[in-house]
Amino acid sequence: MRYSLIDMLILIFSIAIGAFLGHLVEPFLPAEVRPAAKVVGAVAVYLAVVYPIYRGFKFFPMILPRCPCCNKFQQGFHFTHAWPRVTYRCPTCNGEFVIWHTGKPTADERWDKPVLALKWPYAFGRYKRLKKPEPASPPYSEPAARSPQG
Ligand SMILES: [Zn+2]
Repeated sequence: MRYSLIDMLILIFSIAIGAFLGHLVEPFLPAEVRPAAKVVGAVAVYLAVVYPIYRGFKFFPMILPRCPCCNKFQQGFHFTHAWPRVTYRCPTCNGEFVIWHTGKPTADERWDKPVLALKWPYAFGRYKRLKKPEPASPPYSEPAARSPQG
């Protein structure tokens, strides 16, 4: 897991703003949910800001995936290529795989290595293994409708 000063500052900023917003709405809430207002506000602000910040500044997620080649968690990977299509090389098995940091591969993905997509909320490292899409089938033509007399 990678946890840097930037990650901590985003978290602290979100907690401060969210707790302040929770404090503002507390008097308008029923008494039994008031204690949770600040916590819910902090979590909501964090989830709202974390995705655009990490995507906008092209930060890497805090949790890197298990290597799809040797199926082990690693302390780190060697990176090649640039955001959003980042090729990772595993230090243990030397296998390479691709992570699309935009969550979706483009049409020029070659599918010669395992391909993962990074999903919302981005920062936590939710990955989805992708399969090569089937080639588009030829257009299917409807058989001619039979007449009611036939
Ligand atoms: Zn590996």
